[in-house]
Amino acid sequence: MKVMKFGGTSVGSAERFKNVARLLLDRGRNIVVLSAMSGTTNSLVEIADYLYKRNSAGAQEMITSLENKYSGVVNALFETHEAREKARKELKGCFSYLRSFVREQFGENEEKEILSQGELMSTILMANYLRELGVDVVLLPALDFMRTDENAEPDIPYIEKRLLPMLEEHAEAPMFITQGYICRNCRGDVDNLQRGGSDLTASLIGAVTGAEEIEIWTDIDGMHNSDPRYVANTQPVHELHFEEAAELAYFGAKILHPTCVLPAKVNNIPVRLLNTMQPEAAGTLISNFPPSRTIKAIAAKDNITAIKIKSSRMLLSYGFMSQVFEVFERYRIPIDMVATSEVGVSLTIDNRRDFDRIINELKVFATVSTDDDMVIICVVGDLEWHNTGFEAKVVEALRGIPVRMISYGGSNYNISLLVKKENKIEALNALHKKLFIDK
Ligand code: ADP
Ligand code: ASP
Ligand code: MG
Repeated sequence: MKVMKFGGTSVGSAERFKNVARLLLDRGRNIVVLSAMSGTTNSLVEIADYLYKRNSAGAQEMITSLENKYSGVVNALFETHEAREKARKELKGCFSYLRSFVREQFGENEEKEILSQGELMSTILMANYLRELGVDVVLLPALDFMRTDENAEPDIPYIEKRLLPMLEEHAEAPMFITQGYICRNCRGDVDNLQRGGSDLTASLIGAVTGAEEIEIWTDIDGMHNSDPRYVANTQPVHELHFEEAAELAYFGAKILHPTCVLPAKVNNIPVRLLNTMQPEAAGTLISNFPPSRTIKAIAAKDNITAIKIKSSRMLLSYGFMSQVFEVFERYRIPIDMVATSEVGVSLTIDNRRDFDRIINELKVFATVSTDDDMVIICVVGDLEWHNTGFEAKVVEALRGIPVRMISYGGSNYNISLLVKKENKIEALNALHKKLFIDK
């Protein structure tokens, strides 16, 4: 069995639902993971925002406009009156539930309940449509098996313990369908796996079921060698190592959620990125065995802050680094890049939570300066240090662009450079030309 995950644009309209259903019918007995229709999670975030601000009228208006959108999809999707009415009734349940929050005390738990409705609505539409087509699909409620633990990490033993019996119970099922993104936390409350987290749902299900492959179906034919939103004429990369995919995802390649690589890698289950609009395209195969000695792709991660921390003493003493890192550890802020010199260290973070407190704590033992609005540009491939020449090309490509930090050697798979936000597009294009066009 395979796990097949379809992102928001793949189920973005009635036509797209029909297209996915056709694709599923051709592929047989698999576990299908669906995201919310594109735009829905953003609308739900906005509804929650109105409710936080106690603007009931704003929330009501958004709910009604979302309901009208779904009503249009129902009308266009179903052929028979019975199927249409059944889907309509089930969706009405979701919208009544959304409206029930308008008069309530509103907090984080209520927000998460609201955010969970998008994926639930997608599976209502798809399950009813497949049944209308005569496929007796089994709906697996994600809230019954997907859970996170006390550290907000996926609780894999629990997921396995709950999901496998559900699959065994339906040994004859022609197909399974479930919601991406949504889960329960360790207290049993409705929660989610962060924005874009349906990819992680697919990977976790693939891992616990020992799937043959995890397919991530989206709106582009695989991982491209640069971000197609900023660079023209990018090309799909046909094969990637799990580590390369993880670096690209972490450093901004939106096509893949960074957390989804690990469960697949640990269980050695290949991940394939495919295009719903062009199903015959080869896409990208992510595995432990890609071609070596090549630069594969470039990604960019925005909203980075660089912090330069100079030791107050003349020379760096031992213990200085651990003192610095301990501050970030205490505030649970991950560090992305690091560069050191005799007198200090520069590092980057992408999360400004508790920023002023962190800076004040560092200032007790060091001189601190910061640069905001920076971007990490990450060049990814088989960059093992004996492979010569790639650093020279990277640096040469960025000849006219101010580079704040460079980091290489943390893994065999990436070289990262920190530039100003206003130089991002220029840097991406210069690297693309040098590394993939001129070569
Ligand atoms: P989905 O809704 O299916 O999860 P996403 O929007 O999360 O889809 O991811 C697909 C998008 O990722 C593409 O439309 C593309 O704009 C963007 N993207 C960014 N970097 C890359 C890249 N290197 N290769 C392919 N797509 C990328
Ligand atoms: N619907 C969620 C989002 O928009 C999860 C996902 O699509 O993966 O972030
Ligand atoms: Mg996505």
